[in-house]
Amino acid sequence: MEDKLQRDYPMSLATSLGVGGPAEYFFRPSSAADIQWALSFADERNLPVTTIGYGTNLLVRDGGIRGLVIQLADSIAHADVHDTIITATCGCLYGSISKLAAHHSLSGLEYAVGIPGGLGGALFMNAGAYDGEIGPLVREVHWVTASDSGIWYAPDYTYSYRYSKLQETPVIVTKTVLELRHGDQTTIYEKMNDLQDQRRCRQPLEYPSAGSTFKRPKGHFVGPLIEEAQLKGFTIGGAQISEKHCGFIVNRGGATASDVLRLIEHIQTTIQTKFSVELQPEVRIIGLP
Ligand SMILES: Cc1cc2nc3c(=O)[nH]c(=O)nc-3n(C[C@H](O)[C@H](O)[C@H](O)COP(=O)(O)OP(=O)(O)OC[C@H]3O[C@@H](n4cnc5c(N)ncnc54)[C@H](O)[C@@H]3O)c2cc1C
Repeated sequence: MEDKLQRDYPMSLATSLGVGGPAEYFFRPSSAADIQWALSFADERNLPVTTIGYGTNLLVRDGGIRGLVIQLADSIAHADVHDTIITATCGCLYGSISKLAAHHSLSGLEYAVGIPGGLGGALFMNAGAYDGEIGPLVREVHWVTASDSGIWYAPDYTYSYRYSKLQETPVIVTKTVLELRHGDQTTIYEKMNDLQDQRRCRQPLEYPSAGSTFKRPKGHFVGPLIEEAQLKGFTIGGAQISEKHCGFIVNRGGATASDVLRLIEHIQTTIQTKFSVELQPEVRIIGLP
């Protein structure tokens, strides 16, 4: 199994923003047994473990990540549908599960069609868009650690806007069970197409990014606030406030994590000074400076 471990793996290759230093060890499991092997490997060597999915909500600092990064992505992706229940491993793409639901005339996941990343990240972030989020659909969350494993049933998986209890609990989520409802397939596809069109129109999908940089502060929208502060297109190094949607920071080529972090700080300070609004990053910032 050790031959599947990669040393000094550039996290810029494992994140949609395309920045970040190397992971000391990097591993892509293909099975539950692989995950257990990786956790034992790290445990025996006292290495910290970082779990990631598709890296679409991550900003990894330029110093990289010490210890072992376990990536649950397409090497461990499998889903089943029974009546209104979808059981899926966390490597499944969120958007693919939305399409799978539509294929079976199941409604409830239309909003997720254009959200990149996997189910593990979606559960961690309680990812959502427009009128939906994953939290209310969750019936089971299966998790493991080096020494334990378990299942949270619906009320035990607590969540709120872009928050879930996973952010406080160091476990690896391996599988989830979601409950949807029967719907009219034509209506489901119409809604999905409409939401996809809105994304293509409004979001800077032509450049690498990590999605919305900041959470939505109460009573405000981030993009318009940043635009009103005259920061549209403001650039530090290779990192730019998108000219299409100010809520996104895009990598215009050759950005470093330090460029992005400096830009984040500049936005936060400007918005605080001009509007007395505190912006909290939605993007998860990890790794060594
Ligand atoms: C263009 C673009 C548009 C986006 N639009 C949206 C949107 O509309 N709505 C929205 O909510 N998000 C959006 N995002 C952000 C992102 O796609 C979501 O947060 C997504 O759910 C993250 O999934 P991921 O697999 O990429 O997670 P990652 O970025 O790899 O990880 C995110 C966090 O989850 C943790 N994690 C991941 N997998 C596991 C696991 N199996 N067990 C335990 N912890 C885990 C990681 O440690 C990390 O802290 C967008 C991103 C981009 C680039």
